[in-house]
Order: sequence, then C-alpha cells, then structure tokens
Amino acid sequence: MVRMLNEPGTQNSEPLLIASLLRTPLATAPHQQIVYRDVARYDYLTLKTRIGKLARALADLGIAEGDTVAVMDWDSHRYLECYFAIPMMGAVLMTVNLRLAPAQIAYTLQQSKARVLLVHHDFVPLLRALRAQLPLVTHAVLLEPDTTDECPFHGERFDYETLLAVADADFDFKEFDERAVATTFFTTGTTGLPKAVCFTHRQIMIHTLAVLGALASPQHGQSFRQGDVYMPMTPMFHVHAWGLPYVATLLGVKQVYPGRYEPTRLLALREREGVSYSHCVPTILQMLLDAPESATTDLRGWKITVGGAALGESLARAALARGIDVFAAYGMSETCPFLTATRLTGDDQATDGAAEITRRCRTGLPAPLVDLRIVDAEMQDVPHDGETMGELVVRAPWLTGGYVDDPIATAELWQGGYLHTRDIATIDEQGVVQIRDRLKDVIKTGGEWISSLLLEDLLGRHADVGEVAVVGIADERWGERPVAVVVPRAATVNLLDAETLRLHLAAFVQSGQIPKYAVPERIEFVETIPKTSVGKIDKKHLRVMLGAGVPEPPN
Ligand code: AMP
Repeated sequence: MVRMLNEPGTQNSEPLLIASLLRTPLATAPHQQIVYRDVARYDYLTLKTRIGKLARALADLGIAEGDTVAVMDWDSHRYLECYFAIPMMGAVLMTVNLRLAPAQIAYTLQQSKARVLLVHHDFVPLLRALRAQLPLVTHAVLLEPDTTDECPFHGERFDYETLLAVADADFDFKEFDERAVATTFFTTGTTGLPKAVCFTHRQIMIHTLAVLGALASPQHGQSFRQGDVYMPMTPMFHVHAWGLPYVATLLGVKQVYPGRYEPTRLLALREREGVSYSHCVPTILQMLLDAPESATTDLRGWKITVGGAALGESLARAALARGIDVFAAYGMSETCPFLTATRLTGDDQATDGAAEITRRCRTGLPAPLVDLRIVDAEMQDVPHDGETMGELVVRAPWLTGGYVDDPIATAELWQGGYLHTRDIATIDEQGVVQIRDRLKDVIKTGGEWISSLLLEDLLGRHADVGEVAVVGIADERWGERPVAVVVPRAATVNLLDAETLRLHLAAFVQSGQIPKYAVPERIEFVETIPKTSVGKIDKKHLRVMLGAGVPEPPN
C-alpha cells in the first residue's frame, strides 16, 4: 500500500485552483497590457480588480458555488474576466457555442442549468426569441449593450460595465477542492444532440502547465514564450480557446482580443499590436491569406499553431511563403483539448524545405504527461513504422471524465481505460504521430482504407484548387468510393475540370504515394464547402449534398 503524507502540519495541501494562475503575472508583469480591439486597454492589475468586481456583481445577482453562468460573447477582455471570475467563485463557466442553431443553443443552456447569462448585444434578438425555452435563467447581463437593447428577459436590464462600476473589488475568493467543476461546454460535430463535457480546476491547471511545457520548451520551432504578444483566433467559446488564454495569463504576456473574427480586423491588430503568437483552424488561416489586406500586411514572424483539422502542406507552404511560422497541433473537445504538437529538429531546418514543411504539418509528439497509443481493434499497439494505421487512444490527467448524464457514451469514450479519439493515426520510430483520418471519415474501398485527409492534401496542391473535401460514398461494388468536392480558385473557376485533377493525382499514383484505386471517379465543383459551427469541413452535410446519408439538423 502506498504511504500517504497525511500528518497534520506536515503537508502542503494547496489545491490546484485557477486563481493561482494570476499570481505570477501580478508579481512579475503587473503593467503588461490586455487589449480589446480599439475599445479597451488595461493592465493585469486592472484585470485582477475587474475579476473581483465581476465576482461581487454575480454574487449580488444570486450566483453561488455550484451555479452555472453562461457567456455568449465574441473574443473579448470581458470573456477573459469570465474565464477567471466565474470558476474562482466556485461557480461553473459555460461557454456557449454561438454558431449552433438557435434550438441547440436553447438546449445547451437548459441542460447546463445556466442561471445567469452574460450576453453580447448581437445575441439579444436570439435570446428574446428563446426566452420561453429558458425557465431556469433568472438574469441576463448585457456585455456591450446597444442603447436600444431591451432586457432579453423579464425584469430589470443589467449592463456589465454598470455592474462593475459600482461593485466592490474585494470579493473574498475561497479555497475549495481542486476537483470542483470549473467549466462546461458542448461538443460539436458528433451525431445527434450536442453532448456536455466538464473540466475541473485541477484538469485546467495541469493542462495549462503541460501546454506551457509543450510550447515553451522545444529547442526548435513551434513556441509560445514570454516576450510574445498573444491573440486567439480560435473562439473563446470553443474549448477555452484551446486553453491558451490561461497559458498567456500565466506567462504574463500582452494579450489582444479581437472580437468577432473579421480578416481586416485580425490583420490590423496583428500589425498595430505586434501580435506574434496565435492559433486557429486551417479555414481561418486560409481566410487571412485570401484577404486583400494580407498582401499589404507584414506577416513575417507570426507564429501560428494550426489545429482542429489537418494542416495541409499546400496551406502551410502558402503561409510560409508569406513569412508565417506555421505549425500543426492536435486535440479534441473531450481532451481540454491539447494532446500533441509538431516540432522541428535542428536537422529538419538544415535539410531541404520540403522535409521541413512535412514536419511542420505532422500531428506531432505528445505533450508532457500524455500517454498516447495507436491501437488495433483488440487494443494492441500497432507497429511504430509510420505506416500501420490504428485508433489513437490517450490518457492524461486533464481529459474529461465523460459526458454529463450520458453513461453509455461515457463508457464508449473510455473503453479499456483509455479515451478513444475515433481518429485513425500512424506512429513512427521516433514517436511522431500522424492523423490519417477520423474513424467515420476514413474511406473503405474494396476492403482497403484510403485516407480522405491525404487525398484532400494532394488535391489541394494543384494550383487551381481553392478548397477541397473528400468523402466516402456507398458503392455497390466497392463498398465505398471517394468523391472529391472542389472549390476552384476564383481566376480558374471555368477552366478547372475533373480530368485535370485526375491527371494531377496520377502523378502521385506513379510516385507510389497513393494506390490507383484512390483516384476518385467523381469530382464535383461547387462554390462553397459546408462548414461546422467551428469552421471545419462538415462531412455529414457534404454526404447529404452528394445524395448520400440521412439529413440531420445542421450543427
Ligand atoms: P473538436 O472536438 O471539435 O475540437 O474536434 C476534434 C477533432 O478534430 C479530432 O478528433 C480530429 O478528428 C480533428 N483534429 C484536430 N486537430 C487535428 C489535426 N492536427 N489533424 C487532423 N485532425 C485534427
């Protein structure tokens, strides 16, 4: 039996609580700036004061330990205040996915038992429409009110800034058990209704330290350190903006919050505030590169971690050509989310550019404390040969314990004591992981697997392809066949045809990168590719568009 250190007076029993992330920046960088668009600019001392005031104001509205407070906002300094004040009170921060359909937003608010809502005025009309479906909500606080906004709920209208102006800053934050729930949100992209996950103070704290270890320690490549200027480009409602606002705060760096993502504004903030570290999904990076203003913005030295979907080599090349230091990372909502990040070695940089680009796009190496395995259906490890595919399963101290009130889905998620990502991956001798596909997106044709991600990457390398998605469609003879959906670049919209793209793929067949049967017979040209609520290609919807699969409500 292990020996516990439990004699009174001998143990340091300080719990791992989010509040302690503020200590170091307040001691070492109290005057460092936090910026919200061109609307607000203040320092970490003011952040601390406003966190205290927010907690006082919420307590006055009746919020106590264990209650849920939901936030509907674009990325802002106020959202950052909520990231701290709400969990620090022992209450639960619910981050509302703003891109869900209205009925799903109502469902998620109701399921999370939110009592107070903090709402940007863009969502006031929506909330007014949903009012009857939200009987548990007692108060709504307008974050950035328009003078014409009425209260979306019955009774008095509360404004965030007015509440803070009169509130006392000395809220008495108590210490409590580190296993207390700090945040909750709903996963997207799965079938059926959104499912809730929760994260505790302990999980968020360990995740913060592990991400810091993963990003601040590598000798080469991908880094986020003191001296950087941080701006998120993954929404704060999506898995705590990948947890990076917590890391940025612990580092005490300058933080820039851009509001709703508009390329013009993101690029202007990058330039004006000297942003040096951001993170986003590939769609946002593409959107930035395509924006007319990007041609006249100096993007050199901007470090961007790309995750949430595979970073294709063509996109990486385009970003690098503009001087963006781009790298892949991987994770999912259920994993808080960080699991792996790619890294360069000194050798990569010394060799040719192509090897370096490949390395930058790899899913990468596990973050500190991550126990990562690629297994077959019997949970046996596949060979570390960089070729054999299996499911990526993980353990780490910060992974969600399961889906709230859903024991069946939880048991599936944690089958065999490991969290099942439902991602198909390979691992090589050096332990470098590469996601090949999602379990449900992988295409099985004639009994062989084809990676839809690989086909997307190869098609994306054709100069006239703007955007591309590949899905498997049922086929009587082969089981499934790949179908490619392509958005041509504007200048070549009438010139690009399927035969050209098949010829383009034939070169990769010849060089042995893909088998002949991977080349799709069907290639469709479209104006846009449907995206999920967090900007990823919506393959469910795409299958429906292509005449396969059952329509589901958009997510
Ligand atoms: P979400 O829970 O919405 O964040 O989605 C997580 C899923 O996105 C993962 O299970 C993967 O399928 C996919 N994903 C995230 N990062 C990557 C990456 N670097 N490469 C490929 N797929 C990724």
